[in-house]
Amino acid sequence: MNNFTKIFACLVVLFLFAASIVAQNLTADLIVVNAKVRTMDDAKPNAEAIAVMSNKIVAVGSNVEIRALAGAKTKTIDAQGKLVIPGFNDAHVHFLEGGYQLSSVDLRDAKTPAEFTRRIKEFAAKLPKGRWILGGKWDHENWSPNNLPTAAMIDAVTPDNPVFIDRLDGHMALANSLAFKMAGVDKNTKDVAGGEIVRDSGGVPTGVLKDAAMNYVGKVIPAFTFAEKMEQAQAATDYAASLGVTSVQDMSAGTDVAIYQELTRLGKLKTRIYGCSPLSDYSRWEKTGVYRAFGNDWIRVGCLKGYADGSLGSTTAWFFAAYLDAPNTSGLASDEIPKMQENVKNADKAGLQINIHAIGDKANDTVLSVFEKISRENGMRDRRFRVEHAQHLRIEDLKRFGQLKVTASMQPFHLADDGRWAHKRLDEPRLKGTYAFRTLLDSGGTLAFGTDWYVAPLNPMLGLHAAVTRQTLDGKNPNGWIPEQKISVAEAVRAYTNGSAYAEFQENVKGSISAGKLADFVILSDDIFTIKPNDINKTKVLTTIVDGRIVYEHK
Ligand SMILES: [Zn+2]
Repeated sequence: MNNFTKIFACLVVLFLFAASIVAQNLTADLIVVNAKVRTMDDAKPNAEAIAVMSNKIVAVGSNVEIRALAGAKTKTIDAQGKLVIPGFNDAHVHFLEGGYQLSSVDLRDAKTPAEFTRRIKEFAAKLPKGRWILGGKWDHENWSPNNLPTAAMIDAVTPDNPVFIDRLDGHMALANSLAFKMAGVDKNTKDVAGGEIVRDSGGVPTGVLKDAAMNYVGKVIPAFTFAEKMEQAQAATDYAASLGVTSVQDMSAGTDVAIYQELTRLGKLKTRIYGCSPLSDYSRWEKTGVYRAFGNDWIRVGCLKGYADGSLGSTTAWFFAAYLDAPNTSGLASDEIPKMQENVKNADKAGLQINIHAIGDKANDTVLSVFEKISRENGMRDRRFRVEHAQHLRIEDLKRFGQLKVTASMQPFHLADDGRWAHKRLDEPRLKGTYAFRTLLDSGGTLAFGTDWYVAPLNPMLGLHAAVTRQTLDGKNPNGWIPEQKISVAEAVRAYTNGSAYAEFQENVKGSISAGKLADFVILSDDIFTIKPNDINKTKVLTTIVDGRIVYEHK
């Protein structure tokens, strides 16, 4: 072809493209031009511009192609060469709890017991008498793994406020003496299956309750009012928008769906929600005859979340062998284990999606075996079983995710956190299958990324950074902790968009920047695909677009 024919051919293509849109009478409501678009859609991985009509992406292409779709009323965003990628879909959050924690005492980075006490004192001083102090998200690993906090550390600074603040993983919590008094917990309180009351040498509870034992205090905490929950949800959705998180999968939505409905009615919801209920509640769903997840683009329900064990930080993750630093225990099987097979079987028969929390290798093996058995018994179906966390896997179990088509719903930031101290708890062979992103992908598994917010920060940049660099928060692993399990930026972004959309049966609706999909995308301050991996965590979200609407702009 000579130049003239080339130009002519280009013009014809352009004309046909524009004509096809005009024929459908389309003028874009919004166009984004001069962008470096990484679509996460293999059919068309890169583009310069995007056109949006109403809440959908209608075209992805060159600046010229997309500008041709603009009319007098079209809003134009000039991305000035910045990176545009699909909005993040966090596959595992506790959304209202996260919203609550945004305004509660923050203990995550309290580095010493004295600092821990000081922060609680300051917070309590601002509260009315009698108001519970919850959340906190403390981490005793900051000062000493063998030194759990005690009620004695906080009783003097919280005389009038009951306290029940949890460790960042939510698998143990510290009560003050007032809370224990209200709950009737004392020396004579019995231990429960799947839980532990931490006691001193005289058998007196010290303040910390683990897993199932947490319910002793949990049941006397007054429920939040509807108005309080609305505030929490509003804070959570605003915060998510500021971080480019456009969808979340709320593992503890339960009966709070009404909160999200109300926020949608008021036009204030900025985050799409996939809401899960406790696995043990499956019969409530079964009775409605719902046979698979359903809802609209904003709120969908129909997933169930179960527990197989606790957490590594609380030494309640369930392993085949004992902990190195706690040789008397190999963790705790959750109290749901005895009924898990039956619950999964019935819930799966009812067509619902099942997500089970499993951290230790034995918990993971147990869940995979239940999934395998139930798939066989209930027959072929696109069921998309999920293991939540899938943190510590035996090498032989890694390939089972691909084979059984079980999605590994993982939170890469946890590795930056746990990598500081996990080697004290687990021997080398067990560490081999820890946060094994590389092997899981290579053996055909699907990864869905998220944070477990508030367990980890909601900011997706921290998760991407952790997945790609595998550096730990203490800076002691500059080349990565278990570096052979690193994945690329593209793979990590995919797990955080496409992968998590797949995990909620929405890969045809969102998860990439493609014509026909929901207009959920973000403009970033830096090109995370080309900057030094070390700088990914400094990247900011400049603009967040959800449903074709700008919900956040960096000022
Ligand atoms: Zn969780």
